[in-house]
Amino acid sequence: MTDDAAAAPICLARPLPGPDDLRAGCAAARAVDGRPLHAAALKFFWGPMDCGKSTMALQMNHNHARQGRRGLVTTRIDRSLGPQVTTRIGLAHAAVEVTDTLDLRDLVRDAWAEGVRVDYLICDEASFYNLEHIDQMADLVDNYDVDVYAFGLATDFRSCLFPAAQRLFELADSVARIQVEVLCWCGREGLLNARVVDGRVAREGEQVVIGDTVDTAEVRYQVLCRRHYRAGDLGGR
Ligand SMILES: [Zn+2]
Repeated sequence: MTDDAAAAPICLARPLPGPDDLRAGCAAARAVDGRPLHAAALKFFWGPMDCGKSTMALQMNHNHARQGRRGLVTTRIDRSLGPQVTTRIGLAHAAVEVTDTLDLRDLVRDAWAEGVRVDYLICDEASFYNLEHIDQMADLVDNYDVDVYAFGLATDFRSCLFPAAQRLFELADSVARIQVEVLCWCGREGLLNARVVDGRVAREGEQVVIGDTVDTAEVRYQVLCRRHYRAGDLGGR
């Protein structure tokens, strides 16, 4: 990611400084307010349905944990409808369900109060979070030196940005489109999440309606290229 590359010279030998490093007095350059110049970051990874966001979220959690870092995984409206992150390729991990009233900062502070280290948060399905949650993520980065890695859809079934995704685009240190391509039935790269109700592409309705990409779902979603999304053409599926 270009943002990381640009920031790398500041702290080359410490690619993943955590709160412990910071409390121990990391030798990294400091800003005039005394806080490290290169410390925690808010990163948003986005892509259409089926592109492997949750898989990447769990992979990132695994990679950080393997290096001795400790993190929490959160989600909202996972496809399993349980407090866990599940993936279409069979992985699963316990997660904290984000509710309207949950304050992500309290989640971290409570863990710290119990002696549980939290170096980072993995926030799956972040497009379904409230705007307040996104600002809490920024606060965790800026004032608690906790890394936050958010994963989610950018746009809804109408091809409009989810408010939380828009806020992430506005606030994140870096934004990256997940590079696993999902193909439209025509073979073009899939970009937009069509909601399919009674065999037709829905254009109106609630922004969030539970469904999956399997054919048997009552309300299902199908990733289409822009051309076929706009035409409402679901192909021969
Ligand atoms: Zn297409």
